[in-house]
Amino acid sequence: MQTVYFDYNATTPVDERVVSAMLPYYLNVYGNPSNMNSAHGKEANRAYKRSLRTIADYFRIESTDGIILTSGATESNNLVIKSLVGSVKKPCRIITSKIEHDSVIKTLESLSDSVIIDYVENDGSGRINLADLESRITEDTVLVTIIGANNEIGTIQPIEEIAEIAHRHGVPFHCDATQLVPHRRIDLLAQNIDYVSMSGHKIYAPKGVGLLLCRDDRALNRITPQIVGGGQQNGYRSGTINVPGIVSLAEAVKLLDAEMESDNAICNELFGVFFRVLDAEGIPYRLNGDTMNRIEGNISISIEGLTSVQLLAALSEFSISTGSACSTGKESHVLRAIGCPKEVISGTIRIGYGRFSKREEIIALAEKLVGYYNRVYRNN
Ligand code: PMP
Repeated sequence: MQTVYFDYNATTPVDERVVSAMLPYYLNVYGNPSNMNSAHGKEANRAYKRSLRTIADYFRIESTDGIILTSGATESNNLVIKSLVGSVKKPCRIITSKIEHDSVIKTLESLSDSVIIDYVENDGSGRINLADLESRITEDTVLVTIIGANNEIGTIQPIEEIAEIAHRHGVPFHCDATQLVPHRRIDLLAQNIDYVSMSGHKIYAPKGVGLLLCRDDRALNRITPQIVGGGQQNGYRSGTINVPGIVSLAEAVKLLDAEMESDNAICNELFGVFFRVLDAEGIPYRLNGDTMNRIEGNISISIEGLTSVQLLAALSEFSISTGSACSTGKESHVLRAIGCPKEVISGTIRIGYGRFSKREEIIALAEKLVGYYNRVYRNN
């Protein structure tokens, strides 16, 4: 049997339609969009501008100037955090949570000479405590940065409420929405989010492209370039513009616009089917994360009495993971931060699914898991 892919939170397959949209910009329109003296350059520039327009309309930001094309959410997170820290008198404070992706936590830790990091509490399902957030804001706070949906446990944060609290105290809000974008529409103007980070490879576009979205001029003006050189992207991020990359993002968001609902419906069906198989057999499991506020394509689960090493071996025909793909081998800081006991942390697996996942595939996974449990604990 071919290995079945269940690691969509680590990365999604690239949609063929995204590849088709990109191909002409490798094969025919390969000019440098910054060279407006050549016909090839002009045509590439038109594709770049068209893609910017599609992205600005989809995410609803004030102008296309607020789009910074990056190599992915890691770079976007670095860019916004380092900008905000660099733009004020020191020392300053940044509020975040203990369930952020490492690209936020490590960036903040690398700035520990100039930033005091305030970690807001969460409720044990990964939802942050809004009263605690508000109580931590001081006049030295320069940014609130909170993950939109967690990459390990799928919990979604109340981002509009967070934005409202931050703004009431005059503090900008950045949301690492890398895992939220595939499942929820994000509207920076209506939801009042100053900055959004995301990666193409979570929305069926390739790896190595992403965005930092700035809601308006005010947000953009706080950004200090971290990569300087030829002055592309209005100087905010130098380097020859990746035209196929931005075309892929524009195509991917068009597909989200049309298909997010059906993508989520597929995921909901798979979630239900998986747990029906486990429940029918009375398998003792624990689902991590919030039961209501969660992204559709994620199951973070531990089975009583089994370790994740055993589970990964028993389920080796399925590409699943133990937690975040970016920190394989380390104990999960997210599970620790939501108060999971040690045996749950060492027993957790993550199953990620999406647009191309099939009902029969998740049934096969669930049945395999049940069979393994029964062999180990019920001698059958
Ligand atoms: N933030 C979150 C929530 C993520 O899930 C990821 C990718 N796992 C990143 C940031 C980093 O994205 P990339 O590796 O594409 O830079």
